[in-house]
Amino acid sequence: MAADQTPIPSHSPASTPLWQREWQASFRNPVELLEFLHLDPLQTPGPLMLNPGFPFRVPRNYAERMRKSDWNDPLLRQVLPFHHEEEERPGFVQDAVGDSDAQDGNGVLRKYHGRALLLLSGVCAVHCRYCFRREFPYEEIPAAKMDWDQVYSRLAEDSDLEEILFSGGDPLSLSDSNLRWHWEKTFTIPQVKRIRIHTRVPVVLPSRIDSKFLDLVREMSSRKPLFMVLHINHANEIGPELEERIKALRAAGAVLLNQAVLLRGVNDNVDALVELSQRLLDTGSLPYYLHQLDRVRGAWHFEVPEEEGLALMEELRQRLPGYGVPKYVREAAGEASKLDVSALTRLKI
Ligand SMILES: *Cc1c(COP(=O)(O)O)cnc(C)c1O
Ligand code: SF4
Repeated sequence: MAADQTPIPSHSPASTPLWQREWQASFRNPVELLEFLHLDPLQTPGPLMLNPGFPFRVPRNYAERMRKSDWNDPLLRQVLPFHHEEEERPGFVQDAVGDSDAQDGNGVLRKYHGRALLLLSGVCAVHCRYCFRREFPYEEIPAAKMDWDQVYSRLAEDSDLEEILFSGGDPLSLSDSNLRWHWEKTFTIPQVKRIRIHTRVPVVLPSRIDSKFLDLVREMSSRKPLFMVLHINHANEIGPELEERIKALRAAGAVLLNQAVLLRGVNDNVDALVELSQRLLDTGSLPYYLHQLDRVRGAWHFEVPEEEGLALMEELRQRLPGYGVPKYVREAAGEASKLDVSALTRLKI
């Protein structure tokens, strides 16, 4: 996402869905956000990057859930760009998870048995500074339906395929009609048993889950099971509006899971992780993965060492029901699955 790709014209008509208008009104400059939070841009805890290569973008709805006058707010820390992103650190590279080796033609990643991950869009509603795809060459993914037609024809030939994942960027940055088109294409492949959507859009722009989208979910999930994996990192991200929308998604037939990234200064303590799981359970969704940070260039300052993560997991197991404990995983290029960090340690691998 090196370039700031914005699919929506800046003067959109009133018929434009609310979520798109809200998205358009996002903060695009860190100073504006700091002023909104009553923080002095001249007194930052580190040197701020005003024009980062991976651009600044934060929807106002998300900013409203940040605490005022608090540099350590866990939501603010996920989006504020500091110059230390530019420091090189050994082991932190452009393609941290071997995505470039897993590319099976444009827009498709094949790493794991039975699953194909489709990069439906290079666009996100928020730009997370820890993002593992912050330097992904999104310009290579298909834009035209004709090219996607070929992608789906190729997938149809794979008799082992069981699941199609919509990812990105963020697939919910697409319009409902575009999304419907892709969904319908997946239904033309009989061996595909279920659809999964990985998204952070509802977290930062809950208005994306409007009645039209819920109708779409209701219709599509009645045809093949739909699993939605939200990317929520902190309990403060689950305000009343998001909670209500998650419940509406469940009522519309989706199975809701969550994936978080373990992030220094955001959720690297047991209380934060317990509260996140409890808030997820309040909404009726299940913690799925707690991800070790992918070692992508620019994100080194978010890393929590694995020994620390393992100790946190041990405490989580003591405080939560089994189904409230996420699996602590790490991505490794060339492996047959994401690696279960706790199990690896028990086996001393
Ligand atoms: C993470 C990932 C998946 C999904 O893995 P699960 O363990 O099933 O959640 C699928 N494809 C790719 C390329 C992935 O990175
Ligand atoms: S929403 Fe996901 S893909 Fe988009 S910037 Fe954030 S972490 Fe990266």
